[in-house]
Amino acid sequence: MLSVDSILSKVAETGKKHIILQTPEGLIRAAVQIIPDLVHAGYTVTLSGDPCYGACDLVQYLDADTVLVHIGHAPVEQRENVIYELYQQDFNLEQILLSLPHLTERRIGLVTTVQHVHMLPAVQEILKTKGYETVLGDPTKRTPYAGQVLGCSFGGARRDVREILYIGTGVFHALGVHLATGARVIACDPYMMSCEEVTARPFLTKRFSLIERAKEADRYGIIVSTKSGQERMALAKQLMELHTNTILLSMKEVTPDQLLNIGLPCYVNTACPRLAYDDQPRFHAPVLSPQEFQIVCGVRTWDEYAIDEIL
Ligand code: SF4
Repeated sequence: MLSVDSILSKVAETGKKHIILQTPEGLIRAAVQIIPDLVHAGYTVTLSGDPCYGACDLVQYLDADTVLVHIGHAPVEQRENVIYELYQQDFNLEQILLSLPHLTERRIGLVTTVQHVHMLPAVQEILKTKGYETVLGDPTKRTPYAGQVLGCSFGGARRDVREILYIGTGVFHALGVHLATGARVIACDPYMMSCEEVTARPFLTKRFSLIERAKEADRYGIIVSTKSGQERMALAKQLMELHTNTILLSMKEVTPDQLLNIGLPCYVNTACPRLAYDDQPRFHAPVLSPQEFQIVCGVRTWDEYAIDEIL
């Protein structure tokens, strides 16, 4: 449930009279439901209908009387006149006990995504009753909550532990934590009631064959995002110096159709790191991470493979 009271009290502090609501796709209907209450409280409201995958993609233009209410994500950058309204999702704590047979250490790191960070103290308590010491990573610039990770930032997982319990849905975050820290990672999905050790081998096998394909390309498009929290122009320029035949591409949405239309034989992605990893099956050509392009260009070895993060 979105809390209208919470949003109204934060907006009141700004003194603005126009609200732009921005949500990820999964919450946009919930946002529609609260608009009458916001209007009733005396505000004019605009709902952003564009796709939004993170706080890296804030609505850009805000006039002097407008506050942006960004729902569902924590801040990844400092911006004025933006309110972040989290969407907390509880889970049954008992499900965490499913992870116990998979744990081999008594001291473990705990990580999760922003919608579950409020549950971490309770998870720590329940694991303590079973004899486990748990540690949370410190907040970072892009992950302001202890123990929080993002698909582009795993700093919240970097602690002096050999084993980490990731709580959440999907496999990407857990895989990223494993690759970023080198720790053994157990992924626990409290909704699916599943728990398993993460292995990077299938992922690395696919990326290795992609790098080999990319070596055959004669031109590379270096993608730079125009989204506020994804733009890495300095990195893109460094990458362009590694090869004589590169083209700088400025893009907001990186779609298979658009890359097909541009028609290059290979791309290097400096936008959201998950694009290169998750969406590769949808692209006609290899889309490499910056580190993978460095391997293609011979300035990084395969043994130095690293997951891409925005720091
Ligand atoms: S860059 Fe990607 S992973 Fe990072 S916050 Fe944005 S959408 Fe999420």
